[in-house]
Amino acid sequence: MSKILIVEDEQTIVDLIAFNLKREGFEVESAYDGITGLDKALHCGADLILLDVMLPGMNGFDLLQKLRQESDVPVIMVTAREEERDKIFGLETGADDYMTKPFSVKELVARIRANTRRTGGEGGSAGNRMAFGPYTVDTGLQEVRRDGQPVDLTQREYELVCYFLTSAGRVVSREELMEKVWGYDYYGDLRAVDVAMRRLREKIEEDPANPKYFMTKRGAGYYLQR
Ligand code: CA
Repeated sequence: MSKILIVEDEQTIVDLIAFNLKREGFEVESAYDGITGLDKALHCGADLILLDVMLPGMNGFDLLQKLRQESDVPVIMVTAREEERDKIFGLETGADDYMTKPFSVKELVARIRANTRRTGGEGGSAGNRMAFGPYTVDTGLQEVRRDGQPVDLTQREYELVCYFLTSAGRVVSREELMEKVWGYDYYGDLRAVDVAMRRLREKIEEDPANPKYFMTKRGAGYYLQR
């Protein structure tokens, strides 16, 4: 059973979401301010965190920044405002997904399912090693390593690497990445793919501005050059 932590200061929203998630078979934990939220995010063992931006104590962006120093748990940011800069900032800070209030509970559950499915999940063919450049990928341990040292990737970044490796150099469109790696069609913003690719390059490429592995094919998408 997946455990969802809701960090949100509006009691009625917490109650509504918690009621629906429990009905869908999730275990639910909640926190009503940023400081308690961070503490629970680090210690309650949640499989996914639903994180409001405007919170007393500590806002959602600050909480996420602190959380990401220690944890790669999936986070869906929630905001009342449809502001592009908030959205991009949230994704760059390390959110896995983003929702704007008001949202339908049905869509929320779909996104939670998409974002929890990947973590600790399938495992793939145990011990199957794949490589590109100086990197090796251990699908058993779900790690990408360089010179034996694990590269600090989020679950989504790891999934991206694996998807490119199994695409054998083919150009993959952003729509396909959204569908296959994020796990749902058209709910998400395609720019989330570009942000994730940029973050991945920053971790993998020696010169992220002139990538050698994760290449852009203009107007078409991305491909992996081994
Ligand atoms: Ca709030």
